Amino acid sequence: RFITFEGIDGSGKTTQARALAERLRAAGRDVLLTREPGGSPGAEEIRRLLVQGDASRWSAETEILLFTAARRDHLEKTVEPALIAGSTVISDRFADSTRVYQGAARGDLRALVDRLHDAMIGTEPHLTLIIDVEPGAALARGLARNSGEDRFEDLGLAFQTRLATGFRALAREFPERCRLVDGNRDIDAIAAEVAALAQAALE
Ligand code: C5P
Ligand code: MG
Repeated sequence: RFITFEGIDGSGKTTQARALAERLRAAGRDVLLTREPGGSPGAEEIRRLLVQGDASRWSAETEILLFTAARRDHLEKTVEPALIAGSTVISDRFADSTRVYQGAARGDLRALVDRLHDAMIGTEPHLTLIIDVEPGAALARGLARNSGEDRFEDLGLAFQTRLATGFRALAREFPERCRLVDGNRDIDAIAAEVAALAQAALE
């Protein structure tokens, strides 16, 4: 089974992905916890090309190609082998991030994102947990831990709000696999809901 976490920067998805991986491992499952952009040696190299430099380094279209190239390598080298071996794969971000960030929030390129996804990726998760938080609070969290090497994490409240709106729209677009989880609660309450949703999907 393939489970993905999605949400805006600072939404807590990384914390929740780790907590779910630990819980499922404690219950005896083989779990591979991975992330995007990255998750394989080649995709981690592409991640460095994406997050370093200034905002004008890549056009929107080139950025989509790089995210898709990274995802293709991540799928081939990391996700698919683990699924075939019977592991539960948990990814911190996947194709929905590209649909929202590149397809909706940064421009109007969803049609291009979809064509590349169909041609090069195809795979969809069994369950996608979208951690939905108030953009102002998430922004404060994200900036507080920003190391300065990620050019994407400085884009402001208007952009974070467009992202949050985009993720909510995505939850409506793919209701069979997407669950919107209220991330404005304490970590344990969110983790309990996440675990229940994952359990239902794994049965
Ligand atoms: O989730 P993570 O912080 O590892 O992502 C790295 C950066 O890439 C983030 O700042 C995120 O905003 C950005 N990103 C993006 N488009 C995506 C995925 C991530 O701009 N499709
Ligand atoms: Mg980040």
